[in-house]
Amino acid sequence: MSKRVIAYGAAGLVTLMALVAVYVDHRREPVWLENPPQLGQGPILVGISPGLKEHEGDILMAIAQVNDEAHCTVFSLTTESNAKVVLKWLDTEACGTTRAKPLDVKKHVEGMWDCKNGRAEVQFADLADPQLRYPIIVHALGHVAGLAHDFSGPSVMRDPPPPMGQPAPGLTPQDAGALKGRWCP
Ligand SMILES: [Zn+2]
Repeated sequence: MSKRVIAYGAAGLVTLMALVAVYVDHRREPVWLENPPQLGQGPILVGISPGLKEHEGDILMAIAQVNDEAHCTVFSLTTESNAKVVLKWLDTEACGTTRAKPLDVKKHVEGMWDCKNGRAEVQFADLADPQLRYPIIVHALGHVAGLAHDFSGPSVMRDPPPPMGQPAPGLTPQDAGALKGRWCP
């Protein structure tokens, strides 16, 4: 075999491997929820209800982590009255009405409702487990930003989310990049 044939063969193999890599990358689970809450443009203004203030530290850390991974301000903390998304404990009436549309509700852990006025509500049922509290909050923020469950690799968007470890469970690079594209264009 001539050197030229070998060179062309090698170039072809590299091209083929690149195409396979692109294909495998796109075969992953869809990034986005089918029905995300309609929140308009970013950043997503988040408010914490007075009842949930005991977990404000974890929530602030979770917001900082998502922003850090997306390399932009996806979430910004504000007062409950200015918020597009309010985080609170589980109660019987989401968005102050029985007609709010439930999205990805897991009654035993957390749920999200579309309040239909450019606002949404996240309700937590149980944040008692210190190994799960933080991952559950980051996971819920991921849903708020429109992310679906993601089993393509280690991700806080797995269902259920992985417990605390070193480092704390985060988003896949694809999901983090998708958040930047959606909320910080
Ligand atoms: Zn979920």
